[in-house]
Amino acid sequence: MEPQLIMDEVFKCPICGRNTLNAKDYVYETPTGKLLLSNWECNECHFLYRDVKPYETNEPMELSLLVSTDEDLSSIVYRSAFATLTIPELGVEVQPGSAYQGTVTTVRGLLEIIIDNVGSLCKKKNCEKIRDAMNGKISFTLILNDPSGTSFIKNDKTKSTRPLYPSQ
Ligand SMILES: [Zn+2]
Repeated sequence: MEPQLIMDEVFKCPICGRNTLNAKDYVYETPTGKLLLSNWECNECHFLYRDVKPYETNEPMELSLLVSTDEDLSSIVYRSAFATLTIPELGVEVQPGSAYQGTVTTVRGLLEIIIDNVGSLCKKKNCEKIRDAMNGKISFTLILNDPSGTSFIKNDKTKSTRPLYPSQ
């Protein structure tokens, strides 16, 4: 069977910042199960993300990463349109919005988006904390709770759990 195109979107590139990241995901059926093939490439800076993993639809997943080094801050993150983002240490919780698209960025870029977007939620003291976190002054835990299971964090330290039941 030919791979089936399930996502074809253009994202803002996490490296050069232009809206030229062509993200295509395919599902490929094999005798042992379905695979998800990702092929994302930036037309401008040629940033490339390729991945193959088992494809399970609607499998909720929780990703968590303890961000403590500059390398962690530079890890590539894909937050799907369905994922709730939580950072307990910074008092941040961002629910998926209806108009929200998936975002691909770095951990640092994610914090930047939070500062830019949360506005009223961002009390002055909280924003300072987030800036400190962006500058690597404090470590924090980035948690993505994704009912669609498609979000990812490109960092070997990322813990991934599939809760049997939604959080109660
Ligand atoms: Zn680029």
